[in-house]
Amino acid sequence: MAVIRAVGVADPASPSGCLLYIVTNLAQTPLSDRLRALVDTVQHNERTLRRFQDVELRLIGAQDFASFLDTLFVHLPQEFALASVSVWLDDRAPMLRDLLEPAALRALDQHRLKTSREGGLAASRLCETGRPWLGRVGEMDAVSCATFFDDAAMPASAIVLPLAAGRKVSGYLCLGSQDSARFGVGMATDILERFASIVTASLDNVAHRERLKQLGMTDSLTGLSNRRYFDERLREEIQRAARYSVPVACLFIDVDCFKRINDTYGHLTGDRALAAVAACVRQQVRLGDTLARYGGEEFAALLQGDRSDALIAAERVRHAVERLDLQDDNGERIALTVSIGVAARTIVGGGHDAAAQGQSLIEAADRAMYQAKNKGRNRVEVLGDDVREGGDKA
Ligand code: GH3
Ligand code: MG
Ligand code: MG
Repeated sequence: MAVIRAVGVADPASPSGCLLYIVTNLAQTPLSDRLRALVDTVQHNERTLRRFQDVELRLIGAQDFASFLDTLFVHLPQEFALASVSVWLDDRAPMLRDLLEPAALRALDQHRLKTSREGGLAASRLCETGRPWLGRVGEMDAVSCATFFDDAAMPASAIVLPLAAGRKVSGYLCLGSQDSARFGVGMATDILERFASIVTASLDNVAHRERLKQLGMTDSLTGLSNRRYFDERLREEIQRAARYSVPVACLFIDVDCFKRINDTYGHLTGDRALAAVAACVRQQVRLGDTLARYGGEEFAALLQGDRSDALIAAERVRHAVERLDLQDDNGERIALTVSIGVAARTIVGGGHDAAAQGQSLIEAADRAMYQAKNKGRNRVEVLGDDVREGGDKA
């Protein structure tokens, strides 16, 4: 009788925890049995490797960070019947810094993605030698457990794999199983280590993609988002506001008599002044608010709040720019002011055309800004009819 023996490769695909099988006791076994066993084994191994390949191709082809995480957190556990998949990533790693900044993490809303310092330290202790840790979850320390698993759904066994390029570890991938024997000490981990290196390379790839996208959406002079990004966010914000029936507000901010700044101090100082105004405005709006350089010396901000919230923020911005301490090459103070138009909407119910609603909000803020110019500059204005369009809390 041919005996099929697992070679002890920890495998998420197989309930027994093993990936590749070999056939033993060949000498005592009839030829036909031996052949059948061999064919079964080869077919099993082939199917498993194909499933791995499928996940790997998805990871390599991920166009953005969200779909990369989706493959890890949704597709991988489904494909390999895993109880949990979680990842810890180092938010200090240069390529990952932007991907993992608090606002970006909030937008992703992935509770299986962890970045806490303690979590990383605990995982690095588990994988001290740079090799994976595997075993029963009961033998894992409390911090690692809290990092990788939900209290409500503790797996029985797990493997923690370093995500490392060379000797640089940028994170840890943890796979958990309800089967306590699935990941055990002594199992070969070659296949999963290879998988972890593909995850690492794909992560690097996706971080590059996101960075390029971000560069295409960033204004190089001020470091703020550009108009393209603003237009995208505007659509999303209008949809969000419609979904939750919350108000959304827009500030249109234009630097007063900026041509004169250029004419008086030169274009380079003008550039410096624009960057200073941008940084000053950034400080006056919330981190989650969208602020963009909309055009030459114009900025636009999207705020979550009603008309009165927006008027307060606008006045804060106006006042801060007025007090900005900017100097020319001779140390003389350059006085700068801005005119700000405010518009706000409460978009009730669904079915709204987000693009048209957004356009109308921007146009109202733009018209209000011109009103501020006409009334003498360095002031905040809101259009009279904007009040009737539902911008108020009441
Ligand atoms: P107003 O108060 O009516 O807004 O007057 P203004 O001079 O600010 O407006 P105008 O539209 O006449 O001029 C805008 C100026 O902003 C002209 C343009 O050269 C300058 N500008 C636009 N982009 C840049 C830039 O990137 N760097 C510099 N230095 N100047 C810029
Ligand atoms: Mg202008
Ligand atoms: Mg201007």
